[in-house]
Amino acid sequence: MGEIECHNNRYNKAAGDMDLDIIGKIKETAMHFPERTASTNGRDRLSYKELWEYSERLAVCLKNELGEEKQPLAVYGHKSPWMLVCFLACVKAGHGYCPIDISVPDARVEMILHSLPEGPVLAAEQNCSVPGDKEVWSFQQIQEICQMEKMDCCEPDTYVKGDGIWYMIFTSGSTGTPKGVQITADCLHHFTDWAVNLGGAASAEAMRESEEQNLIFLNQAPFSFDLSVMDLYTSLACGGTLYCLEKNVQADYRLLMEHLANAKANVWVSTPSFAEMCLCEQSFCADRMEGMRLFLFCGETLGNRTVAKLQQRFPEAVIINTYGPTESTVAVTGVIVTPEINEKRNPLPVGKAKPGTQILIFDENGQELPEGKKGEVIIAGNTVSPGYYGQPALTEKAFFEIDGMRAYRTGDRGYLENGQLFYCGRIDLQIKYHGYRIELEDIENNIRKLPYIEHVVVLPRERGGKVSSLMAYVVEKSIVEDEKTENDRLKQELLSFLPEYMVPKKFVFLDTMPMTANGKADRKKLGGGL
Ligand code: AMP
Repeated sequence: MGEIECHNNRYNKAAGDMDLDIIGKIKETAMHFPERTASTNGRDRLSYKELWEYSERLAVCLKNELGEEKQPLAVYGHKSPWMLVCFLACVKAGHGYCPIDISVPDARVEMILHSLPEGPVLAAEQNCSVPGDKEVWSFQQIQEICQMEKMDCCEPDTYVKGDGIWYMIFTSGSTGTPKGVQITADCLHHFTDWAVNLGGAASAEAMRESEEQNLIFLNQAPFSFDLSVMDLYTSLACGGTLYCLEKNVQADYRLLMEHLANAKANVWVSTPSFAEMCLCEQSFCADRMEGMRLFLFCGETLGNRTVAKLQQRFPEAVIINTYGPTESTVAVTGVIVTPEINEKRNPLPVGKAKPGTQILIFDENGQELPEGKKGEVIIAGNTVSPGYYGQPALTEKAFFEIDGMRAYRTGDRGYLENGQLFYCGRIDLQIKYHGYRIELEDIENNIRKLPYIEHVVVLPRERGGKVSSLMAYVVEKSIVEDEKTENDRLKQELLSFLPEYMVPKKFVFLDTMPMTANGKADRKKLGGGL
């Protein structure tokens, strides 16, 4: 399987030997190509000069106004280019940031905000109102600070660096409370250093071109999901333009196809689910999107059929499957999926480990397994997070050290073949639904908060090896008279504290919950494989 490698030719160097400087690179682009668009959502745009100068002013203000304690600040918004200004300002001021998308329900936002340290929330989107009672720097205030006449400079010695937390992303937690994954400056730099060269020849060519013209990256994932780090930082690190697709654009085929055609993007970064959705539209093809030359996928299983269709519609483009959890900074393995590989391998490999990362397979007793044997995927290396913010017990459970390297127990099942990793599902109750990572217990614990619920089990329904919907089996404290009305009521109530994608499509009302011999809800009897 030697042919299915990613060509990291420039990066076959020792772990830790890395010369990328993301902030330095942004400054360089702002100096050489000041008018180049750093980010746009098709409506608003910010140039590299604006991104650099605005973030300088905001960083100085954050530094002057806030105390010496340097902890991540929440940035609330959606796909406005001002999100990037706030992220960069937080990092320059030495704080780091925690992105929160406006699609997160208010109750969950408040939960996240309360688990964060003291400090204001930066509102980076026009007309957005931040839920809760924390101090907010409004969008208008931020704009005024950024556009002040006086140009102060933020000294590089305050920037987040080394083991400092660059960003923190909250993911679904089995207890019902999201957990904050902390990513250091070093983790991000090691990841980005690899990601900008992923695809070997394809990205090298793209990099060369980006010196003279914009290389345009498409952003699908909200900034509160770590997949967005792949497009955001590879774009910034090679002086590219980030074209963000807003939620309302993604929800409307006609608008979406219009934006895709107008974006003139060269690099696509999304979950496979999103590409599959686009493939339903015949106009999603190279004729309408001429510049597209690289598809980067991560986050869930990439199917052979999706690859075959993409290869047919975009014959010139390179397709790469990457794999990794938020806890090890977006992705740690990658493989170019050529037509030959797509014909020969089902399931597709997720690739070889990037330099500085080791993939190991452990059995239930924590013993390393040889190649070919299935077990839990362990990731060790220079992009593994130092742990969950303020959660030492959870951190200790999932993170450990191997030969002085941070390591993470992924909960994924897989095996290695000639160093290539193959993904075989989960060993716990975590699922991927339309690319979103969900702990089923997170949904269950939130449903349990409703006072009239006695017992609940949530199960995924699958079609073609993918989760197609979520079903909740509930026992209520009193008899349900009208199931349709009760379904609607439950959905409505849950929407106030769970994101839409976590609200089950259907509720099945049971008199009693089937139990296993050891007193657990019998998921198998309810029809779930989990
Ligand atoms: P997240 O933290 O949201 O990125 O989700 C990480 C999880 O997504 C991993 O632990 C895997 O279960 C799954 N995942 C990521 N990449 C892939 C891939 N290429 N193929 C299959 N599953 C994947």
